[in-house]
Amino acid sequence: MYLNLGMNKYARWGTWCLLWSLCFYSWNGVAALASSKTPGRVASKGWSARSYALTMALDTLGLVPISRLGGSLAVLPWRGTVLLRLQAGNGAKAKVVLDLEGEWKVESVRWEGRDMPFRYGDGRLEFSMHGFKPGAVHPVEVRYSGHLVPAVKPPWQDGLVVSADSLGYPRLGMTCQGSGARSWWPCLDYADTEPDSVVLTMTFPAYAPSPTPNSTPALMDMVANGRRVADTVLGSKRTVTWKVTQPINLYNVTFNIGRYSRFVQPYVDLNSVERELEFYVAPDDLPEARAHMAQVVDMMGCYEDKLGPYPFWKDGYKVIQSSYLGMEHQSAIAYGNGFRNNEWGFDFILVHESGHEWWGNSVSASDPSDWWIHEGLTTLMEAVYLECRDGGRREADTYMQRMQRKIQNRKPMQGPRGRRFAAHDADIYYKGAWMFHSLRNSVGMEEGWNQVLRGAYRKFAGRTLGSEQMIEHWASALDPRFAGTLRWWLHHAELPTLEWSVLEDPEDSTRLMLRYRWGPSAKGFYLPMMTSSGQHVDPVPGRWRTMAWKAGPEAMNKADRQSALQAELANLTQRYLIQVRSLATGSKGGK
Ligand SMILES: [Zn+2]
Repeated sequence: MYLNLGMNKYARWGTWCLLWSLCFYSWNGVAALASSKTPGRVASKGWSARSYALTMALDTLGLVPISRLGGSLAVLPWRGTVLLRLQAGNGAKAKVVLDLEGEWKVESVRWEGRDMPFRYGDGRLEFSMHGFKPGAVHPVEVRYSGHLVPAVKPPWQDGLVVSADSLGYPRLGMTCQGSGARSWWPCLDYADTEPDSVVLTMTFPAYAPSPTPNSTPALMDMVANGRRVADTVLGSKRTVTWKVTQPINLYNVTFNIGRYSRFVQPYVDLNSVERELEFYVAPDDLPEARAHMAQVVDMMGCYEDKLGPYPFWKDGYKVIQSSYLGMEHQSAIAYGNGFRNNEWGFDFILVHESGHEWWGNSVSASDPSDWWIHEGLTTLMEAVYLECRDGGRREADTYMQRMQRKIQNRKPMQGPRGRRFAAHDADIYYKGAWMFHSLRNSVGMEEGWNQVLRGAYRKFAGRTLGSEQMIEHWASALDPRFAGTLRWWLHHAELPTLEWSVLEDPEDSTRLMLRYRWGPSAKGFYLPMMTSSGQHVDPVPGRWRTMAWKAGPEAMNKADRQSALQAELANLTQRYLIQVRSLATGSKGGK
């Protein structure tokens, strides 16, 4: 996911609709979602959905007003059928609770050809599978109807995004990392299991009327995750089916409806297989898009080289033009950055959202409280991409330093598990990336660090994991003491403090003796560092160490040498995720 500029908001209509807003680039507040309801996960223990088949119907591509609480609301009427292949694992009981947030009418729940009694309310669809067979897969069909409420301030708040393209034709999109798949279809909406496949079939008006008197109706298309497997236009309706054949996080399931032209970039992958990278953009943006998207070829080569093969070749790599900035929808990346590069000469939305195919979509956090794994490592990949492009770290290090200014240190990156809590603070992006950047600077072995990064991806590719597993990987590969370091960064809002003062050398008054330690609160924190003049500093939490400081040129007087020492220690914050405090002066350097 991209980062967000606005404040997080809850929006409720009556007691039913929970919409969660995402912020966008440079966060101003802490977004924390903790549902007031007990997640259905507890009630549905042991049940998982092996696959979903969604068959949806849209009668209109525009919003329809409805009365609501004395006012009017514009909504998109929506009806459909969801076929879930439910599997009963260990501990499964007859009762199943699906998540379905919103004000829906559930028309039927069918299993083995018969309607089952059900109860729906407060975001929970409950029914009992009496006679289920442990280990077996049971197809259950849910029919429902109602409407989707568009995000109030897209793209600041996620959900259904309703907009128009540059010529005024409708463009619809779905992005639901915050509001969850449960905001638009009945599902087991948990991060710790992923369905093996999702099929989305949508029937919608084939043509959008001309928005201006002199233009013509336009053929609408629907583009979603995976591969297009069916497409028919019958009269005024078009029906399109897309199929995902690889495990997918539910929040990544999306659809896009609008005028789209498709083009491809040929690409030879890591294993010398010829591939096609696909792009769907508005026809009038085609020339600009073709030129701009050429950078994806180098990016793909970099990521495959640094991490391993693109994880979803079976489902393809696609970028789809959207009306919001971007989102890492697996095999169907949403892109709305206006074909613009940043001052480093690359499109950070393309590079960021594509990075999520490795970190987030293939390696997936088992709980939203662990989303620093997705965002921290993906944000790091922006700098890794620069390294690939330039053949060195200079620009990448400058990029990381620029990124460092956005670290806020207001809340710990790690949230409580099992409560649908997601700390969408900027820190899971920038501070998350800086943890690994700091470890790299600490160990000082470039190829070794690259191998550990690649090893982390390969070890967890295609799996879901929690924070501790990722911590253990880095610690066991680099130094067991880094486990405490990573935990400290994740569980504390503030940064560990390097405290220091200067002592007189009793035997030589011209020499400086540095006295230093990690502040007493940094218990368990370990991070050896190298100063810009090559001096090794390895503080211990709460215990003073002293070292003879190799001060600069002999001609310097004592005050100058002290200033140089102070500057050099303050500069450690340019390479390490720490803060520095002089006890002698009480001054504080760095972030
Ligand atoms: Zn992201």
